[in-house]
Amino acid sequence: MSQPEGQSNTLDNLLEENRTFPPTAEFAANANATAELYAKADEDRLGFWAEQARRLQWDTEWDQVLDWSNPPFAEWFVGGRLNVAHNCVDRHVEAGNGDRVAIYWEGEPGDSRRITYSDLQREVSKTANALAELGVGSGDRVAIYLPMLPEAVFSMLACARLGALHSVVFGGFSAEALRSRINDAEATVVITCDGQFRRGQAMPLKANVDEAVTGTPSVEHVLVVQRTEAEVEWNSERDKWWHDVVDRQPEQHAAESFDSEHPLYILYTSGTTGKPKGILHTSGGYLTQAAYTHNAVFDLKPESDVYWCTADIGWVTGHTYIVYGPLANGASQVIYEGTPNSPHEGRHWEIVQKYGVTLYYTAPTTIRTFMKWGAEIPAQYDLSTLRVLGTVGEPINPEAWMWYRDQIGGGTAPIVDTWWQTETGAIMISPLPGVTAAKPGSAQQPLPGVSASVVDENGNQVGNGEGGLLVLDKPWPSMLRGIWGDQQRFVDTYWSRFAEQGYYFAGDGAKYDDDGDLWLLGRVDDVMNVSGHRISTTEVESALVSHPTVAEAAVVGASDPTTGQGIVAFVITRGDHAGETTVSALRDHVAQSIGPIAKPRQIMVVSELPKTRSGKIMRRLLRDVAENREVGDVSTLADSSVMDQITAGMQSGK
Ligand code: ATP
Ligand code: MG
Repeated sequence: MSQPEGQSNTLDNLLEENRTFPPTAEFAANANATAELYAKADEDRLGFWAEQARRLQWDTEWDQVLDWSNPPFAEWFVGGRLNVAHNCVDRHVEAGNGDRVAIYWEGEPGDSRRITYSDLQREVSKTANALAELGVGSGDRVAIYLPMLPEAVFSMLACARLGALHSVVFGGFSAEALRSRINDAEATVVITCDGQFRRGQAMPLKANVDEAVTGTPSVEHVLVVQRTEAEVEWNSERDKWWHDVVDRQPEQHAAESFDSEHPLYILYTSGTTGKPKGILHTSGGYLTQAAYTHNAVFDLKPESDVYWCTADIGWVTGHTYIVYGPLANGASQVIYEGTPNSPHEGRHWEIVQKYGVTLYYTAPTTIRTFMKWGAEIPAQYDLSTLRVLGTVGEPINPEAWMWYRDQIGGGTAPIVDTWWQTETGAIMISPLPGVTAAKPGSAQQPLPGVSASVVDENGNQVGNGEGGLLVLDKPWPSMLRGIWGDQQRFVDTYWSRFAEQGYYFAGDGAKYDDDGDLWLLGRVDDVMNVSGHRISTTEVESALVSHPTVAEAAVVGASDPTTGQGIVAFVITRGDHAGETTVSALRDHVAQSIGPIAKPRQIMVVSELPKTRSGKIMRRLLRDVAENREVGDVSTLADSSVMDQITAGMQSGK
């Protein structure tokens, strides 16, 4: 069964999906983004982006849309000047929308805050004044180690207002992870809080900062928000309460304009594949693509929609689709502090009902968790306001997609499966909800203005029905401008593989289906090789999830003396089907749905899968287990006990 010569570089195409779901006529008629956008962007790409940049208020207009004379170092909207925070806040107040709610904040214990654009303007101005008093100015770095509190948004925008770079570090990370990120960026101020509410408990947070800053020579001040009122250690020279320093500040702050290429933030990638990279983003191009994509992909109508993105602010999704995109567009949005099962498994749907959420954006891992908990939970709530559903972070399995549409979207809400990365800054590949006939599991087409392609090892585009490597073959406004402090790593990681063609190498596998739609097939590093066939983990996982008893699956290739690699699967069963699954039935099901070559050698039923703190499955750890190796670096794992359970189960032969 060996592969014909010369084809080993592409991926085998196993999964077939024929279901399509066009938007309703009514949705299509009222949609922000129409089919003409594709043609318009193709005709004059730079003109198209210039038009998108006019969504923003520029203090000085640019002279040149793109300078690509020194690739891979791009400059967008050269010569233009703007203030990012002014664009996200003040401009809406000036346009008469100061009374519009910017943030409906919902605390985990049930407390809530309603923050209008006028309130936001005051809070951001006060925070900017406070940071300036602490010595923060243009080009300085501020580390933000906060959970989902409004102060996290105020802090990010205050940095942007001052031209300082924020480096938000996810509140679930350890003191050590925080320390290395503070040192990498040489931050002078750290913003944190006493503690956070998680799963009904007050968890300490400042203690991690206390530990981290013992080894951070650059840090001069720690600004502390009071949230849980738990007792904290106090260093009177270094530590300052937010309410002492920020509350007394003047409510006005004059925003200065900065160059379009002025740095906006550093953000470290999730660390799914290795050591996180400090990705650098800048101002004008980033905000342009954030605003455009948020408008087009979510069909945002700022006067009537209530938007909710469930990501943590510590990830890029929280940056672009909680802070910069929605606020640049004057949206009203929900921000929720806690976990989806506190105090009960219907919490998200209770919040959707309470605020009348219309646009909801989450990750496949969350959807599969909801599937595991059972459809009867969302069925208890009124979800009829929901009109667009989004997903990001991993490929979404077609069955999880169907469940999302039927159980959450009432069988009608378009789903936008959005592919992008910390590095791309904003959505690159996604259906347009009023245009695309959606296919479960496919991200479908690059957005108007964006260009992507699937190529073989030599950089030649593969044909329909074939798989290969995903590349971005033209620069885009929100592209990363580098890796902080390591431009050589930037060039090596993303631009050296297809240096000749000048393509950005995304690190993901993808395929075109027979209609030319794009399917993301997971990390290139995760591709399996079984008897000469290159098989994507995603396709086998999707086949497993399409079995009615399976909620979630992770698949890896383990070395095998006869086939090169053998497929090993780890599955979680659905709550309402526990005990019904048999391993042989699942193996047969995979063989039937995508072919005998993909039949797993071994399947193990587990209760949890190893995930990064951003919710992605870490297959490299499962590969260690499947090959009986010592499990590798688990520092970015959300729950390290999961690996002990899986290893024990594997050894006992379950
Ligand atoms: P690291 O680069 O440190 O290993 P990471 O790649 O997980 O971490 P992110 O930038 O948060 O960090 O994630 C981007 C990746 O997530 C993409 O490269 C892709 O693998 C995956 N991804 C995001 N959205 C989608 C999607 N809609 N479909 C398929 N995969 C997706
Ligand atoms: Mg990555």
